[in-house]
Amino acid sequence: MVTRSALKKLAKELGTPLFVVDHDALRRNYATFKKHLPRVQAYYAVKANSDPAIVKTLYEAGASFDVASMPEFKVVHEYIKGMEPKQRQDWIWDKIIYANPIKANETLRELDPYKPLVTYDNYEEIRKIKKYAPHAGLALRLRVPNTGAMAELSSKFGAAPGEAVDLILAAEKAGLVVEGLSFHVGSQTTNFENYVQAINLAANVFREAKGRGYTKMNLLDIGGGFPAPYDPTVKPFRVLAKIINREIHRLFPKNIQILAEPGRFLVATAAVAVSKIIGKAVRDGKLCYYIDDGVYHTFSGVIFDHCHYHLKAFSKGPTQICSVFGPTCDALDVVSMAEELPADLELGDLLYSENIGAYSHASSTYFNGFPPARVVHINQ
Ligand SMILES: *Cc1c(COP(=O)(O)O)cnc(C)c1O
Repeated sequence: MVTRSALKKLAKELGTPLFVVDHDALRRNYATFKKHLPRVQAYYAVKANSDPAIVKTLYEAGASFDVASMPEFKVVHEYIKGMEPKQRQDWIWDKIIYANPIKANETLRELDPYKPLVTYDNYEEIRKIKKYAPHAGLALRLRVPNTGAMAELSSKFGAAPGEAVDLILAAEKAGLVVEGLSFHVGSQTTNFENYVQAINLAANVFREAKGRGYTKMNLLDIGGGFPAPYDPTVKPFRVLAKIINREIHRLFPKNIQILAEPGRFLVATAAVAVSKIIGKAVRDGKLCYYIDDGVYHTFSGVIFDHCHYHLKAFSKGPTQICSVFGPTCDALDVVSMAEELPADLELGDLLYSENIGAYSHASSTYFNGFPPARVVHINQ
């Protein structure tokens, strides 16, 4: 891991705010995923952090990729197009799935020459795919319980299990091939029962499809949602993996290819944000620190990801509960209303936040003229 003294040194050399990505941690997280889910190919969900250097490291570790927009597709494709052997025409879809169930016509048209593997969950999309990307392979996205996830996705995406086979047969009738099923149990899912229910729902759809004469499905994509260890209440990954392995082994034959789309799990613990105190005040009796990074920037997850990040000081001293605000003029720019920090920190002192690699820098803006934090890659 990056040591505190290394962080301080980087901040001194390069200034703040910094977003420090540890590539050893990326490799470690990927290895953990593979070790505990050996039958599952990990398609890194690029939206969690689309930095090309992260894509490169995970590719070299053996990962494939889940993209959900043309720019994400290009980030991955640019990097991997020269890397793969050309013996197999369809190599690219061992490496990329386009996992956004809703795609613009232009996007489909652009993807078609690559013979993409894409997800869908409704009839309109079948018509669009037929017209603009007839060479695509399909995976039907199922709606599954997202109970207790930090960020739920089931209200926006997924076909109801009851209409799944109708949607598969409709795609077949349109001349398309449905290669399998996908789902997402919700991001940062600490309720492992969601995976059990989703895998069982998928197995039922496989069975019903077979019963109604559709036998071309050979892949199951178990999506993302694997929780990062933000706090000690999150049960270890190996516990979840054991449950997933058990259900897959019980319900799916060996020839079914199993994919997953981990985003957060691979990158969350691989980055640290370092910021500087630029202001200090007492408001209604409460100590407030103003830092040079905030919710329009690296701490965007406070708003968009429902994630709470802890701030830590490099020095020790008697602490109190403080507010920490970002640098912009917007009152929404609140990093935390309750952080336990030393009361004697001074302007120019540094703070850091660990486990901030996912859904953070990825949605940084230039709001109010403040640019995103500078990215530093270490152990690359
Ligand atoms: C966001 C997303 C992911 C990644 O989810 P995590 O919870 O970060 O693992 C995977 N698949 C799809 C379709 C997504 O939208």
